[in-house]
Amino acid sequence: MTRPSTTKRRAPPRQTPHSAIVRGKPMFDRVAIIGVGLIGSSLARVLRRDHLAGHIIGCSQKRETCRKILDLGLADSVTTDPAAAVKGADLVMICTPVGAYKAIAETIAPQLKKGAIVSDVGSVKQAVITDIGPHIPKGVHFVPGHPVAGTEHSGPEAGFAELFDGRFCILTPPPGTDKRAIEKIAALWRRAGMKVEIMDAKHHDAVLAITSHLPHLIAYTIVGTATDLESHIKSEVIKFAAGGFRDFTRIAASDPVMWRDIFLNNREAVLEMLGRLSEDLAALQRAIRWGEGEKLLDLFTRTRAIRRSIIEAGQAESEEPRKASMKKTGAKKTGAKKKTIPRKSGRSGRAARSRRKPSRSARSPAR
Ligand code: NAP
Repeated sequence: MTRPSTTKRRAPPRQTPHSAIVRGKPMFDRVAIIGVGLIGSSLARVLRRDHLAGHIIGCSQKRETCRKILDLGLADSVTTDPAAAVKGADLVMICTPVGAYKAIAETIAPQLKKGAIVSDVGSVKQAVITDIGPHIPKGVHFVPGHPVAGTEHSGPEAGFAELFDGRFCILTPPPGTDKRAIEKIAALWRRAGMKVEIMDAKHHDAVLAITSHLPHLIAYTIVGTATDLESHIKSEVIKFAAGGFRDFTRIAASDPVMWRDIFLNNREAVLEMLGRLSEDLAALQRAIRWGEGEKLLDLFTRTRAIRRSIIEAGQAESEEPRKASMKKTGAKKTGAKKKTIPRKSGRSGRAARSRRKPSRSARSPAR
C-alpha cells in the first residue's frame, strides 16, 4: 500500500468577466469527491461549470488516477487518503463502487466536520444505508442518492457535465434526516439538470432491480453465451452483430467491479425479479414450442406500448428527434449538444475543454 499523499495545484483559470458578475457565494465551500470516475468526474464538471464549490478535493485510490484528475482540472487538490479528503469538507460525495463504501465510511467518520453532509451516488440504496449509516457521527447529515444516468465508460476522462441532463436523481434519506440537508442535495442535482424524487430505499432497490440491474444481467448473459460458442460461430456473431446483439455488447461492456458490487448488494430484489423473469421466459418458450402465435403477438404488442410510454416520459434515447434537430442546426453527429437547462455562467477552464461528451444515444437508459 503506497503512502497516502495530498497534492495541491492551483485551480485552472475559470473566471470570465461575465461569470464574475453572476457568481455569488458557492453552494459549498469545500467539496470532497471520493472516487472521481464517470459519475464523480461528471459531478466535478458540473461543480466547476456552475461555480458551486469553493474548493474541490478529489480522492482516488491510485496515484495515477489522482494525477489524471489534476491534469483534467477536475479538482483543486487530490489525495489517496479518504480521511484527509473529508477534513473541513461541508459536502462529501462518495462515488466509488458500492463494495468500497463500508471501509470508506469507517475511515472518514472521525474526520467529518459537524454540520457536513455525506451523500453518495451508488446504484443500490439499502446496502449503502446499512454500510454507511452507523458510521455517521452525530451532527453530520447523511443523504443517500442515486443519479439514474450513465454510460458504459469508466474513469475520470469518461465524465461530462451534461450526463445528468433531464434524468432522474432518486434520494433515499432514512427517516429523521435533516430536511435542509435533503433540500441542499436536491438543489445540487437540480443544478446538474436532474429531476429529483424522494423514495424509500427498499422501493428504490426493487424498481432498479427490474429497470436496470436485470437488463444488465441479461446483457452479460447473452454476450457470455455468445463468447462460449464454438470459435467459428463466435466470429460470425461478431461479424454480423446487428442492432439487438450490438446493443447488448454495449451494456455488457460496463464496469465489471461496479456491477459485481451492485448484484452482491441488491441480492434479494435481483433474485426476486430473476425468478419472475424465468417464469415468463418458460411461458414464452412453451408458446414458441406449441406455435401459439397469438400469445407472442399479445406480448410484443404490450411491450411496444411500454416503449412508447417511456418515450413520452422523455426517458428514451429516441434517435428521430435528435437526428431531426441535428439536420436543422447542421450539427455533426458527435458534436451535437442538447441544452435543456439555461446556464448562468459560461463554461471555461481545462475541465470544460477536456470534456468528452458521447452522443445522447450512447448513454444507457437507466443505471
Ligand atoms: P468508475 O468510473 O469506475 O469510477 C469509480 C472510481 O472510484 C474510479 O475512478 C476509482 O479510481 C475510484 N475508486 C475505487 N475504489 C476507491 C476507493 N476505495 N477509494 C477511492 N477511490 C476509489 O465508476 P462510476 O461509473 O463512476 O460509478 C461510481 C458509482 O456510481 C458506483 O457506486 C455506481 O453504482 C454508481 N453509478 C454508476 C452509474 C454508471 O452508469 N456508471 C450510474 C449511476 C450510479 P482508481 O482508479 O483510483 O481505482
